[in-house]
Amino acid sequence: MKFVCLDCERAYRLEERRNPFVCDCGGLLEVRQDYRGLDGERLKLEFDNRLADRMSSWASGVWRYKELIAPELPDAYITSRYEGNTGLYPSATLAEFAGVRGLMLKAQSENPSGSFKDNGMAVAVSYGRSLGYRRFTCTSTGNTSSSLAMYAAWAGCSSYVFLPKHHISMNKVLQTLAYGAQVISFEGTYDDGIRFSELHSEQLGLYVCNSINPFRIEGQKSIVFEIAQQLRWQMPDWIVVPGGALSNATALGKGLYELKELGMIDKLPRVAVVQAEGASPFHQMVAQGDAQLKPVRNPYTRATAMNIGNPPSWKKALQYAIKYTKGVTVSVTDEEIMLAKDRIDRSGIGCEPASAASVAGLKKLAAAGIIDKECTAVCLLTGHILKDTEAIEALYKGTLAPSEAAPSVLHTPDLTLDEVRRFITEL
Ligand SMILES: *Cc1c(COP(=O)(O)O)cnc(C)c1O
Ligand SMILES: [Zn+2]
Repeated sequence: MKFVCLDCERAYRLEERRNPFVCDCGGLLEVRQDYRGLDGERLKLEFDNRLADRMSSWASGVWRYKELIAPELPDAYITSRYEGNTGLYPSATLAEFAGVRGLMLKAQSENPSGSFKDNGMAVAVSYGRSLGYRRFTCTSTGNTSSSLAMYAAWAGCSSYVFLPKHHISMNKVLQTLAYGAQVISFEGTYDDGIRFSELHSEQLGLYVCNSINPFRIEGQKSIVFEIAQQLRWQMPDWIVVPGGALSNATALGKGLYELKELGMIDKLPRVAVVQAEGASPFHQMVAQGDAQLKPVRNPYTRATAMNIGNPPSWKKALQYAIKYTKGVTVSVTDEEIMLAKDRIDRSGIGCEPASAASVAGLKKLAAAGIIDKECTAVCLLTGHILKDTEAIEALYKGTLAPSEAAPSVLHTPDLTLDEVRRFITEL
């Protein structure tokens, strides 16, 4: 394994580049592996065998795929909470809502800290430890910090997280604090925090676990590996993912690329990246055919996890998700996001607002004829329903979307049978 620069192809040893993970030319680095000697068919059998294991690192939905994620990492550094292993749920009602023939939801919300960030963070923290770091840092809109704080605590290390003061969910801040992280709250945007932590972390002795950390991408590839394994390597037509920092879109594309190279899948699904209208620089760039991303200065969306105006890894997402898979982008309004969230919640799965962007985006793309109505799609649900309880309150108050979600609560001080009977039969 080595780091390779996306711009100039220069290679570095893994220990050589960190904090930030950039080439001398300023280009982004990615992990490249040598797959010679790997047999795709044998790997499939091996991955299936490991499903019977419940206590070793093979029981993790990330480390099960170690050969394709971190083959050279010594086992002693593996940090794991049995992440991944999330459900893939077909839903006829949501397929109808989105306007496609088949829809499955990949509930990354079922991860130990409640978001897909765990798939990547498990690997970043493990590598940081293997390099001798005991202190970890990230800048976050909330879920990255919860995940880092959890893994750092679990590994007996410490975490220092930079959180923008505004437009961030209180549930995520509290979760991060509860795991024992040191929180640095600042005025400014996520993008300001990223710049600060990448500039100063090495000098502060902190290992950067922002999405620019290439091991996060390696770990997040497991999401598409798991989808493939769950579907017995028969892939859907589309995979739809919300896009903020674009790490997930990148990892999906890169994971698909590697599965195809290894001959483990025949069909290459296309990736659709969905951004929120108020924070959609990637969609703007792709839609207008620009060669460079124009950052959005003051991004705003109620879907806090996607409130990012200057995603550092856009070149990777462009290469893997868009160019390689013939992917598309779309933007959706906060109202469309909240309407989809309401439906996903009521379907019995539930998710935080940013996750619902995937279903809202699929609906929009199907209505526009960009995604064929006869196709099958997998939508990623990135974060747990309890990650943003204020959004549920807002839905109830009808302040975010014309809601069907009137709260069904009977207030009965005396708890009389008549009242309860009327309440039940009215439903
Ligand atoms: C981080 C996050 C996103 C955005 O993912 P990126 O990889 O940053 O594009 C979307 N939804 C949730 C719940 C997240 O935590
Ligand atoms: Zn370079």
